[in-house]
Amino acid sequence: MAQSIQAIRGMHDILPQHIALWQSLEDRARAVLDGYGYREIRTPLVEVTELFKRSIGEVTDIVEKEMYSFDDRNGDSLSLRPEGTASCVRAAIEHGLLSGPQRLWYRGPMFRRERPQKGRYRQFHQIGVEVFGLEGPDIDLEVVLLTRRLWNAVGLGDLRLEINSLGEGDERAAFRSELVHYLGGNLERLDEDSRRRLETNPLRVLDSKDPSMQEVIAGAPRILDHLGNESRAHFDRFCTGLGDAGIDYEINPRLVRGLDYYNRTVFEWITDSLGAQGTVCAGGRYDALVAQLGGRPTPAVGFALGLERMVSMLEAGALPSERGLDAYLVAVGDGPQGKALLIAEALRDALPELQLLCHCGGGSFKSQFKKADRSGARYALVIGEAELERGVVGVKPLRREAEQTEVALEELAAFFATKAEPNSDDK
Ligand code: ATP
Ligand code: MG
Repeated sequence: MAQSIQAIRGMHDILPQHIALWQSLEDRARAVLDGYGYREIRTPLVEVTELFKRSIGEVTDIVEKEMYSFDDRNGDSLSLRPEGTASCVRAAIEHGLLSGPQRLWYRGPMFRRERPQKGRYRQFHQIGVEVFGLEGPDIDLEVVLLTRRLWNAVGLGDLRLEINSLGEGDERAAFRSELVHYLGGNLERLDEDSRRRLETNPLRVLDSKDPSMQEVIAGAPRILDHLGNESRAHFDRFCTGLGDAGIDYEINPRLVRGLDYYNRTVFEWITDSLGAQGTVCAGGRYDALVAQLGGRPTPAVGFALGLERMVSMLEAGALPSERGLDAYLVAVGDGPQGKALLIAEALRDALPELQLLCHCGGGSFKSQFKKADRSGARYALVIGEAELERGVVGVKPLRREAEQTEVALEELAAFFATKAEPNSDDK
């Protein structure tokens, strides 16, 4: 036998038996996003590498070591997208979407060559939103309210909100020199990455996940102490809005996020139930990014949430049950087998919602019936030569003790529309 080939480490199949949870998450998220007037955008999975370098930042974990980059045949450097914001901004500029306020959302796989572990994969899935053209703290509040509604819609309790403000360029510059001074005085306590970043991108040191770095990080100066009046007022109004909406939050002065484009408001929704990989959703403002990527200066705010982490949290709780098949069509004998697919088509024409599996491949009555039972369908529909001749179908409930009855072929749709017991979704 040929040797089998396996999926790439850190990249996972989502199998049919797990798909109900994914679909219900995606459906509910979409309903919430529709409800806030956000419109979906789909961008390519591959972009020029330069896009991510210019947006996420050259001296970040993602760009330095996590991107799947390769040279195209013409020599262009391309990358699998590690996140969605850069592509959204690129598309919004390219297609002239930025003339007025714009509320967008996206979903799909992202790729980062991280060390695979629970909650951290090399292909993972995000749903994200990006809002362009609004600069006040009201829109920051709206995106947080939207996420809270989403947690409620999917039944996620147990998430806490951490927030911070990263201020504006000049405020960060002042903070940066104080931080460099502090870290420079603690050189021997810095790990190798942090020493290097002290030169290139000192704010990133605060984002270090290395446990041995946490103490020196805790003692670092706080960016919140460097906010100017406007940034302070923006942050205060955001906090007041959260309070008025009844959202508990914690100000975490170390929260800087792992990407360079953020300014002012940043936030994360975190759970303690997933261990170290506890951030389920993260976002904030990125007012400079559109201009940085060649568009007109346009304020922006967004977030991305990790679907795998949400799925892990929900797996512990109640799984939404699959709706399951309504019926499994069993056809025995040459005549019925020749007609089965056409009978099934007619039934689907009459009842577009019906979930009907039509047996293919022949076999005895017994073996087909066994498959019907195993399929989880609520009814077996049985057609043998005798039934076909008389224009009837045998209807046998599979999920409860009951006799098989006969229904005329032309009454079958009416039977499912009115007499059949409802499936679990209709409760
Ligand atoms: P972390 O601090 O956990 O590395 P991050 O700051 O790199 O997260 P973002 O780039 O902001 O994360 O992505 C937003 C969300 O996407 C994260 O909060 C998380 O839920 C999810 N996510 C990010 N990277 C991964 C990954 N490698 N595997 C699974 N989910 C991920
Ligand atoms: Mg990360």
